[in-house]
Amino acid sequence: MSSEIAEMCEINQEDGGWRIGAAVPSAQMNEHAGLKADWPGIVEGADLIGSTQIQGRATMAGNLCNAGPAADSVPAMVAAGAIVRVAGPSGSRDVPVEDIPTAPGKTSLAKGELVTSIFLPAKPPRSGSAYLRFIPRTEMDIAVVGVGITLTLDEAGTIAAASVALGAVGPKVIKADTAAKTLIGTKGDESTLEKLAAAASAAATPIDDKRGTAEFRKDVTGVLARRTAKIALARAKGEA
Ligand SMILES: Cc1cc2nc3c(=O)[nH]c(=O)nc-3n(C[C@H](O)[C@H](O)[C@H](O)COP(=O)(O)OP(=O)(O)OC[C@H]3O[C@@H](n4cnc5c(N)ncnc54)[C@H](O)[C@@H]3O)c2cc1C
Repeated sequence: MSSEIAEMCEINQEDGGWRIGAAVPSAQMNEHAGLKADWPGIVEGADLIGSTQIQGRATMAGNLCNAGPAADSVPAMVAAGAIVRVAGPSGSRDVPVEDIPTAPGKTSLAKGELVTSIFLPAKPPRSGSAYLRFIPRTEMDIAVVGVGITLTLDEAGTIAAASVALGAVGPKVIKADTAAKTLIGTKGDESTLEKLAAAASAAATPIDDKRGTAEFRKDVTGVLARRTAKIALARAKGEA
């Protein structure tokens, strides 16, 4: 049982970052002040998985390995550069989080492998993260679009690094590097956010389904990218 393996149930500091055991439920993450301070985007993504009851059991590892395209914890993890530790019959290996899901319901894990922990790197100074999703209801629904963003400012307040990840608009999470590039070298002003929104919409490859048309999802991707970037920017400046 994973609950009897201490390293799978703990959140520990490592190399200035955080190692989150694969059996740590999202409720435990939400109560961890240090993790929340460093990676608010990740905690807010995990905090959207189901209801309070579900969050007492649901883990980011399960949310990731479920390989649902709309998994709420995954875009923020991708934007943070999270690394997944996988153990199996031939030892253990570290894998970028975006390489775990391969298609709806499918992962790159080999037979006999399991995720033992997820590593969030040290939060760079002057950086901020955020996750937003769109759902038709106010809670307990599956994301129609989800956007995770991490960005870092230099000492002059210019965006020096950025990462943008999109959920629910492709068969798996999309790392939208073209969208991230629109932020770099700017102060995140309105004209930059316009370009970010257009690039995020262009990077989305959604399908039509009963929760939204592809056209609607592309549009919402841009809107959410802009709003998520604003929150990440405010956090990077220490304003939120
Ligand atoms: C009522 C309800 C509402 C929900 N709402 C949301 C929502 O709003 N947003 C959202 O993103 N998700 C939602 N979910 C789904 C959610 O993705 C999963 O229930 C949850 O994230 C999975 O976590 P778990 O730890 O319970 O994993 P499990 O359900 O135990 O596992 C999920 C899959 O991952 C595999 N797995 C689990 N852990 C590991 C591991 N360590 N290594 C390898 N494989 C592993 C399992 O074999 C299984 O295939 C909801 C689910 C329910 C029941």
